Amino acid sequence: MVSFLQGKVIKDHRVMRTFISFEEARAIVLSSATTTRTESVAFENAIGRTLREDVLSTEPIPGFDNSAMDGYAVRFEDCVSGPVTLKVVSDIPAGINPGVLVGPGQAARIMTGAPLPAGADSIVPIEKTNSKDRTEVHIGEAPRSGAHVRYAGEELKAGDTVMRSGIVLTPPAIGMLASVGKILVDVACKPRLAIISTGDEVIPADERPVLGQLRNSNGPSLAAQAVSAGADVTVTKHLPDDPAAIRSFVQSIKNVDLLVFSGGVSMGEYDYVRTELDAMGAVWEFWKVKQRPGKPLAFGTLDGIPVLGLPGNPVSSSVCFEMYARPMIAAMSGRDNPLRITIQATLRRDIPKVERLYTFARGNLSTDPETGLTMVDTTGNQASGMFTSMVDADCIIHLPDGLKSAEAGSKVTVELLSWSLS
Ligand code: AMP
Ligand code: MG
Repeated sequence: MVSFLQGKVIKDHRVMRTFISFEEARAIVLSSATTTRTESVAFENAIGRTLREDVLSTEPIPGFDNSAMDGYAVRFEDCVSGPVTLKVVSDIPAGINPGVLVGPGQAARIMTGAPLPAGADSIVPIEKTNSKDRTEVHIGEAPRSGAHVRYAGEELKAGDTVMRSGIVLTPPAIGMLASVGKILVDVACKPRLAIISTGDEVIPADERPVLGQLRNSNGPSLAAQAVSAGADVTVTKHLPDDPAAIRSFVQSIKNVDLLVFSGGVSMGEYDYVRTELDAMGAVWEFWKVKQRPGKPLAFGTLDGIPVLGLPGNPVSSSVCFEMYARPMIAAMSGRDNPLRITIQATLRRDIPKVERLYTFARGNLSTDPETGLTMVDTTGNQASGMFTSMVDADCIIHLPDGLKSAEAGSKVTVELLSWSLS
């Protein structure tokens, strides 16, 4: 997949940036996300997918004037001047064409969802009526004119846009697709990801580590994160810190939209990912970001395919995936807003912070029972090797660079870690 010449030509015209801000880094990453192809899927299978066409309603919804209550269809003018007893001329269950005219002094018994019969204009709910037998009904209190009538097209007119390209199809969206008879729907193909972890010391989860070794947690965590972000993980691999192994495996990868590496991007003696990809013609956009965790983050392209080099510390790798890879996957899927929702919360305790680094603290949200304020606290030790701080988190606290300290009682921006586990 690698064209050495192409890489070199582009490389000569660009300068890799280093130690840039989080905002710059994320903008660079997002600007390189080109949308994936689209495919047509059955609406029932479209849950969680990103819509890539505008969906229109071909018919009005509701399709006909109908009753919102079980009750009686009446003429408003018959009831307006005081209590009245009306003759019941018809029974209208849901699903039938009434084929009846409600004339002066008449009413029709009607069920929820049944078409409003001609002549009637209002519904009196059954609980507001009295009936001695099935032939007549007594109405004590006049309904509002048009009460409990759902009018044809009051929600959507024929030709109205129901859903716009770029939204994520939620369970209600699936229901709406069914309502408008949209059986096949164009959605973004899931971006295809390769997740490659590295490190001689890293062993599979089903093996027992000896001194110096630890189990591979980044590979499985990143693959799960990718799935939760809406990607298709088509390649997973663990590689030793061996330049030849890295090179030959990367050269064998076909048909992916994003390459994600964990480990091997720092300054260590055995950090070969950047240098090997470099030799293969990668064009690095940046290396190192003013952030914590995840300072040695690297980003570039290899033969036009974006490459994210995540630092190996489990928290760094996990947090950087959420901050960069997730929005990238969303942007590649053509999503309207690739970023997660943020809210403001009040810090419970001080968080120590280095002024020049944008800090992503892992936190937990709660509501203060006395003040009703949304509060946030860290999940304990925030060292980048302590994965428990990430496991226990329900949010990421954003503490921008330039901020000297994060003090208890101050308002902070919090990104909700809402995982989609479909
Ligand atoms: P590196 O970025 O390769 O220097 O790795 C930094 C730290 O992360 C080291 O302590 C590694 O042992 C650890 N690490 C690297 N890769 C993994 C992995 N796949 N799973 C768990 N820990 C890892
Ligand atoms: Mg390593």
